[in-house]
Order: sequence, then structure tokens, then C-alpha cells
Amino acid sequence: MAYLTLKNINKIYPNGYHAVHNFNLEIEKGEFVVFVGPSGCGKSTTLRMIAGLEDISNGEFLINGKRANEMGPREREVAMVFQSYALYPQMTVYDNIAFGLTLQGVDEDVIEQRVQNTARILGLTEYLDRLPRALSGGQRQRVAIGRAIIRKVGIFLMDEPLSNLDAKQRVTMRYEIAQIHRETGATTIYVTHDQTEAMTLADRIVVMKDGYVQQIGTPYELYYKPANVFVAGFIGEPPMNFVRGTVKGGCLAMGGNALDLSRKLPDIGKYEGKEIVLGFRPEAVALGEHEDGYHIACRVELTEMLGDNTNVYVTAGDTQAILKIDSHDTPQTDADITFSIPLESVYLFDAETENVIG
Ligand code: ADP
Repeated sequence: MAYLTLKNINKIYPNGYHAVHNFNLEIEKGEFVVFVGPSGCGKSTTLRMIAGLEDISNGEFLINGKRANEMGPREREVAMVFQSYALYPQMTVYDNIAFGLTLQGVDEDVIEQRVQNTARILGLTEYLDRLPRALSGGQRQRVAIGRAIIRKVGIFLMDEPLSNLDAKQRVTMRYEIAQIHRETGATTIYVTHDQTEAMTLADRIVVMKDGYVQQIGTPYELYYKPANVFVAGFIGEPPMNFVRGTVKGGCLAMGGNALDLSRKLPDIGKYEGKEIVLGFRPEAVALGEHEDGYHIACRVELTEMLGDNTNVYVTAGDTQAILKIDSHDTPQTDADITFSIPLESVYLFDAETENVIG
């Protein structure tokens, strides 16, 4: 039996706004699950329903097989870390971390031992006597995490915990959160709009859009087997390129290039005359003509040297695309070039449903 079960969960706010539709998910003990999607897609609402901070309008939430809809946050044994890590400014790091246990009247000795252990996991041992104002943003966020993990709850919930940090601190804290999860083994649900955070941290990712779950899978599955155009475009950076057009004679036009779709999809005949979307990732292409692939003639509009690779912006007729290539091979702006997309890296989507085909 799964540790946490969300069965057809819906949220309709008092103003009538339907923020979450039929959310279904089973989470195993110790799993790290990330909810990802654009702002406003219902991630926080779902997390808050799991935390017991928001009523579940419809559906059932189970902890260890037991209905938890009516349980308060304490009974659910959840700890939550928010984006704004409000620490008590007049208390030391030690007291901030210990606060929850002190309130519960836990023995001083036990508190001491658990604060020390938590501080060790978080690398805060030498800061225990400091006040929050004498810490960096990343250190403060670690204290906020410490306050949550010291309680040894079953479920650890995090809502955009890194969004107040700068880019460098985010990368460091991301690594630390992964380490903390390895050490504590706590079942974790983590909300972010950042696909990189989702990909790097998650055992499994739930991609959401407009209150609906789009796909649930491992980072690998979402990257290589996206279920629809939205997931394909959301996961991966730079995003997947899309070529939209009508199938004519089994082919799709990309500028002056005719891509023979029957090579990818033998029964392409049933899409004749219909609109289709072809996708390929910037990093999947190779410059020049390679066997087993589509060859695309295009013009280089702009290049962005990023270090080991370069983003090459190209156009073929009306279609624009980004190619990510080894920076040693960077072509000249305005050059006419040819690149190849291996067939295995080509994705086809029904333009109407936007679902993957084949
Ligand atoms: P996310 O976390 O993905 O950014 P939220 O779960 O915060 O999204 O919000 C989902 C949708 O629900 C948004 O359109 C938001 O405006 C709406 N919403 C959030 N809270 C309320 C509320 N208390 N009353 C009405 N609508 C709300």
C-alpha cells in the first residue's frame, strides 16, 4: 500500500474558482516527489490540501491507507517549509531550530542532541549562537529547513523554498536538499516552477497545467517520453523545438525541407491533410548530414556562446529553431548550414489533442 494516496482530489475555492481537477497520485514512503508547472497551475493549492491548510473540496486523501481529509496538520505529521523563511529575529539559530520541540515540552537533553544532529546535517554547527540577521540567505533557508526536519515528521512539504535565493545559492541549496533527503529519508513533496530543480531533485515529477495533471513520471521518462506538447516544451532547456504543419504526401514541410514522416510513423496515411506537430530537442541535433535522420537546410540568425556549447538560432522558411551544439563547431551568423535530427529523437504530436502519436 502506498504511504500517501490522492484520489480524485479537487479544489474549488469559495469564489467558485476550480483550481485543481481530479488529481490522482500514490506516493511511496521515502519518495521525493516534485510538483512542477507554471505559476497559477495549482501546485501550492495541492500541497496545502496535503498539509491540511486548505480543505479538500472533493476526493480523498489517505495516509497509510487511512482517510486524512478531516485530520488537522498536526495529526497528519507534516512539516512545511515556505518560500519566505520567517525566522524569529531575536532568537539564535539554536533556539529557532529548537523552537517546535521547546513548545512541545521535549526534554532539554533530547532537544540539545537533536539540534546538534540537525545542525550537523545542515552544516550549521558553527552558527548556532548567531542571530538570523548575521546569516546569508542560504544559511537562513537552512535554518528554516532545520526547524522542519528536527520534528521528525513523516511528510516533509516544501513550497518554492529556493525562490528567495540568488542563482548561485539556489544551485548549492539544491544539492544540500538532495543530501538532506538522502540522510533523513523523509517522504518529501516539493513545489517549484523551475524545471531544472524538478529534474535534479525528483524521484518522480508531477507536471501540472491549468489545474490538471499533465504527466507523472521519473525525470528520465518526462524527458524522453513526454506525453504531450506541453510536457515536451516544459521539460528541457532550451525547450524542445516544434514544427507545426499539414501532412502532404506523408511529408511535413520545414521551410524548403520535406520531412518524410512515414520513416518515423509507418501509418502516417491517416494523418494526410491534417495538422501535426513535430518536435526535436536542441541538443539532439548534429551539424551536417548524417544517415538515419532528417536533414534540414537552414540559415543561422544568431549564436550564443555558453561555454562548452553554443545555442544556434536558425530559421528554415517560417520555422525557427534552436540548436545546441559543441561550441568548437559554432557556425557564422548568416551562414547557410545543414543539420540532422536522428529519427529516434523526433517526436510527433496530434495538433488537435496535442498528445504524442506513436
Ligand atoms: P501555483 O502554486 O501553481 O502557482 P496556486 O495553487 O497558488 O498555483 O493557485 C492556483 C490557482 O488558484 C490560481 O489561479 C490562483 O489565483 C487561484 N487561487 C489561489 N488561492 C485562491 C483563493 N484563496 N481563492 C481563489 N482562488 C485562489
